[in-house]
This record gives sequence, structure tokens and C-alpha cells, in this order.
Amino acid sequence: MAVTEIQELDTYCSRLLGADQIKDYCPIGLQVENAGPIHRIVSGVTASEALIQAAIEREANAVLVHHGYFWRGEPESLVGMKFRRIKALIDNNIALLAYHLPLDTHAQYGNNAQLGQKLGLMTDGALAAGGTDNLFWYGHLTEPLSAVEFGEHIESVLGRKPVYAGPDQNFGRTSVGYSVRPSEEQPFEERHSEEQPNIKQPNIKQPNIKQPNIKQPNIKQPGTNHPGEDSRLIRTVGWCTGGAQQFVTVAAERGLDAYISGEISEQTTHVARECGVHYFAAGHHATERYGVLALGEHLAEQFDVSHQFVDIDNPA
Ligand SMILES: [Zn+2]
Repeated sequence: MAVTEIQELDTYCSRLLGADQIKDYCPIGLQVENAGPIHRIVSGVTASEALIQAAIEREANAVLVHHGYFWRGEPESLVGMKFRRIKALIDNNIALLAYHLPLDTHAQYGNNAQLGQKLGLMTDGALAAGGTDNLFWYGHLTEPLSAVEFGEHIESVLGRKPVYAGPDQNFGRTSVGYSVRPSEEQPFEERHSEEQPNIKQPNIKQPNIKQPNIKQPNIKQPGTNHPGEDSRLIRTVGWCTGGAQQFVTVAAERGLDAYISGEISEQTTHVARECGVHYFAAGHHATERYGVLALGEHLAEQFDVSHQFVDIDNPA
């Protein structure tokens, strides 16, 4: 195969991700150039000093990330931490490719698409949120789960315990791990029986949420429980990776049972409780690992380059 240069990768990714259709908070694509061919790409969530160091150790020619540099509103001067990062890239002839929103919204390589797949969520659609198309994803579970069960599922997939806020007041009541319920000792199928001893009904009434005006033929109205169904169980889920906790209100407006994002703010708790949405803050970093990983793997298939995702641990 022909020698690959960074401009070629940038053009390819921008076209693939539809970057020209998206208004972002930072420059999309090539943020720092290198000279010469690209043989090895290291990818990661954020172009931190630790990720650059990992790229230098692996003799990479390019770093591919979701969170690059030059965010709107930040000081523009190349001083301090920003200088050290960019100097390390240039000194080692490493290019930086950064795709932020395009790598959240893309239908295949986006963080939301990849997270939905990882969690086994059945996607029903995507909405515009915060002025960006296809940023808020929604779908359903193949089988209803309690908040505790869904939290455990998220933890087992992402390797990180989510922070919960919402109508299930028994969630996480024990000091270690999740609250252990008698029902969890039963076989899986039996856990969904109507009898659930020792579980207090949450005190929060399901609010009368107006169905949104958006016409969506052929899609079941989410969050609508049939008579006799347990309203505490999670059937429909919205999700938006990263720091999108504010869209818990979008989940509430659509009548979704649960919402997953990365972070949590003080007010998220109250919105989740009062609107009856099971909210899971599953980690900004943890929810945004999979888009850039999928894109890097794809580039290694399309071009004569190798790719390695480096997971720099981040508790946030
Ligand atoms: Zn992010």
C-alpha cells in the first residue's frame, strides 16, 4: 500500500465522520501536523501528557483522540501545560488528530453508537441536543431490568461502578457496592416476578410527562408502561456519552425510563428524582473510550498503518 500522510488521514476521517456538517467547540481534525509518513497511530480519549508519552514510547507518528486542544473560550497562548504537550508532539514529530462532536454523533464510529452496542441497547433513534444533530440516542432493552440490575450491567461492561440518581431510593443503600436484595439470589428469570419483598416503593410519583410533539411513526412511545407492568423497571433508555448530564431533561421529556451519560452535577440528582428518570453517570472517560478505538481500528484496516488504543485511566 502507498505511504500514508497525515493530511490523507485527516481528509478521510473528516469525510467519514461528516465533520463539515458539524459545528464544534474546537478545531475538527488535524490540530498539530507532523512531517513524513504515518506508520503507527496511538489513540486515546484525551491528548494528555500521559497519552503523548505513551505515543512516544511506542514510536507513533500520530495521536488520534476525542478530546484535543484549542477549546472555545480557553486561553489561546501556548504556555504551561499546553506548551509542554504541544512541544512533546512536535519534538517527536507526532501529529495530533482530534474529532470531538463528529466522534460522538457518527452512526457507526461515534461514542454513542459504540456505547449502545457495548451495552446491548437496541437503538430506536437519535435526536438533536444542545444544537447538535444525533447527539442524544435512545432505545430499549431486550428485557426489562431493575435499576440495580441495570447498574450492575453497566458496571460489568464498562468496568466502572456508575453513580446512580433517580426514583429508586433503595439503590446503593448498602455501604459496600450495590444494595443486595433477596431477589438477586433467585435465578434471573424469577427476579422479574411481581413480588419483590423488602423493596420500598419509591415515594416519587411518576409525573405526567407530556409526550413530545415530534411525530415518529412506527416507534413505540417510550416509557409507556402497559397496565400491570412494574413502572420501576427499565425498558427504555436514552444515552449521550461524556459530560451530557444536562440532557436528563430530554430523557424526561421523552418519557424514557433511564438515561446514561458520563458525569453528574448536583442538580442532575433532583431532576432525575423528580422526573422519575433512572440516571446513571457511568464516567465521562469510560463512556467515551469506544468511538476513537473503533475509528483507529478502522483506519488500520483502510490504510497501511498500525493502531493501538491506550487507556489512560481516569476516575472521572
Ligand atoms: Zn467528552
